Formats: sequence, structure tokens, C-alpha cells
Amino acid sequence: MKIVALFPETSGATQLMTKKESLGLKDYFDGTDHELTLITEDNEVDQHIKDMDAIISSPFLPAYITEERIKKAKNLKLAITAGVGSDHVDIKTAADKGITVAEVTGSNNVSVAEQNVMETLLLLRNYEEGHRQAEQGEWNLPKVGSGARELLDKKVGIFGFGLIGQLTAERLKPFNVTLQYNDPVRKEEEEKRIGIQYVEFDELVKTSDVIIVQAPLTADTENTFSQDVLNNMKENAVLVNYARGAIVDRDAVAEAVSDNRIRYGGDVWYPQPAPQDHPWRSLEQTGLTVHYSGMTVEAQERIQKGVKEMLTNFIEGSSIRDEYLIVDKNQVANQSYRVS
Ligand code: NAD
Repeated sequence: MKIVALFPETSGATQLMTKKESLGLKDYFDGTDHELTLITEDNEVDQHIKDMDAIISSPFLPAYITEERIKKAKNLKLAITAGVGSDHVDIKTAADKGITVAEVTGSNNVSVAEQNVMETLLLLRNYEEGHRQAEQGEWNLPKVGSGARELLDKKVGIFGFGLIGQLTAERLKPFNVTLQYNDPVRKEEEEKRIGIQYVEFDELVKTSDVIIVQAPLTADTENTFSQDVLNNMKENAVLVNYARGAIVDRDAVAEAVSDNRIRYGGDVWYPQPAPQDHPWRSLEQTGLTVHYSGMTVEAQERIQKGVKEMLTNFIEGSSIRDEYLIVDKNQVANQSYRVS
């Protein structure tokens, strides 16, 4: 079988998710009849599309498995996401063509939940301005202090209350905040356990001091945070997005941040890698980083274990465990990806 895997080229540091280490897959396939092809950029996928049996890529540097590519991929049976979030694969076409899509569910949930808490505090506290002044030799206390607020007594709204949304809520609870969420699936047990209230989307937008986006990117969530929605957010509200870049309107976010109406931070962009001229790159005082929150050292170890487990299932012809499956047997297998 031909397995293609996309990992970034090693530069400076090496870790599991690099071409050099490639999650240990080189050793895994050594001495077998299977062929492992390592690539470092999405555009290299086209050279292998016709005869590859499986593709592995991460959400951090995805291989975009589009409808057009799937049409050419006559042998493709499995697309593995080395991480969580499989929107880089055209889910509907994969289901139609009988391609299995699977990810390492739960592998980096704690990493992202911790990052959500960090980003919330960082944006509320005007940390970026304080850091900018430190770096640039300034000491303008009113400028940084007037924009710095506490988390205590704030209303935090979570859009997408799944595994990461819940871990984030649990971690924010001790700060004495009011928690609310919106999700097509009501989670009454978690509501009681964590102390969080379900609200309609409009209410979440209008009343939250902090909104944390943690839904998957689907046809339903794409561009949800449009210009109109951003206009309805509270003045100076904070929008944290570690879910997917395309859930927010790129230009509307840039405008709202430039006008000092909201603060925005996260690590997800569209497409990835983000182009040099992406408008967010020139924004001042956002908590934006490259997409790395879900690839901590600990998360990468879990991702490695999960990817190897799925490959073993694939090669031996045994079942991939249910919790990993996003698309299987011509169906969307994961409730979070079912669209209305
Ligand atoms: P999950 O499946 O446990 O939770 C997703 C939740 O979103 C579910 O409760 C689902 O019902 C809800 N949802 C689906 N459609 C929605 C809609 N239209 N409106 C509101 N909510 C909706 O997944 P998870 O593990 O919590 O991860 C969520 C997403 O976070 C992933 O799909 C991925 O895109 C992103 N993620 C990002 C990183 C990162 O490194 N930044 C890492 C992991 C996951």
C-alpha cells in the first residue's frame, strides 16, 4: 500500500510532527511491503493522488483533500487527521466515495482548553500592549492600564460545547465567571455538572464579554461570525478562536479589531499556512499566533499513538475505533460534523 504523509520540514528544532521524525512512521513501515512517501507541502499531494491508498496530515499543516482531488484519487481509502478537526477533507465527497476519515479524538483537547484560558486572560488584560511597550522602549502606563480588565464577574459564552468547550468551561469556572453556551446539541448533564447555561446564539453574541469559538468547521458554522454578528457583540468584547479560521469573517474581524471594537485572538487561519499578505498579519495587539495550540509535546505523543493505531487497523483490515471516525461506510459518523 502507498501511504502519503505531510509534515513540515525540520528547521532549527525537531519534534515528532516533522518530516525528520514523521511520528515514527519511517521505523513503523521499515521492512514491510508498504511504501511511505513523505511530503512537506500541500501542493505535492497532486503528484501522488492517483495511486495513494491513505493520506496522513495534520490540521496545523493540512493536505486539502478537495472534491477535485478525491475524483482523481482512485485508490484512496483512508484520510487520517494527525490531530483533531478534519475539515481539510471534503467530508461529503469522502462519504459519497466511501473514503474513511478519522482523527485522534481527544489527543489535544487539554492543550487547546488551556490555551483558551490563556488567550482569554491575555486579551482581557491588554497583555499585547504591555509587551509591545516593553519591547519598544516605552513606559506608557495609562495606555496599557486603561485597556486592562479582570476576568472576575465576566460573562463567558462558548460556541460549540464539545470536549474542548467543556474542558475550557471547567478551567474558567474557578475565576468566578458566568458561563453560557450555544450548541445544536443540548448537554443537560454538563450544564448541571459545570454550572453553565444554554442560550440561543443571538443572546450569546449580545451578552458575552468573552466569546470562545470551539465548534468544528462545517457548512453550518462557516462564516458564522459575520460582520453583522460582530457588530452585535458588546463593545470591547473579546473573541477567542482556536477552532477554525473560516468560522469567522476574515475581513470583518480585521476591521472590528482595527476600529478597537473587539479584541481577537487565536491560532487558526484560512488557508494554512496563511499567506504573507493575510490581513490579520498586520493587525496590532491581537493574541494571534500560528496554528500550534494543539501540538504541545504531550499532544504530539498522543497523536503519534493514535495514528499508529489507526494505521495498524487499516493494514490488518480491522475496525478503527468508533470515537476516531468522522466518515465511515459512506456516512458521516461523528455527530459534530452532521449539518442541518
Ligand atoms: P467535539 O466534537 O467534541 O465538539 C464540537 C462541538 O461543536 C459539539 O458539541 C458539536 O455539537 C458542536 N457544534 C457542531 N455544530 C455546531 C454549530 N452549528 N453551532 C454550535 N456548535 C456546534 O470536538 P472538540 O474536540 O471539542 O473540537 C472542536 C473543534 O476544535 C475541532 O473540530 C477543531 O476544528 C478545533 N480544534 C482546534 C485545535 C487547535 O489546535 N487550534 C485543536 C483541536 C481541535
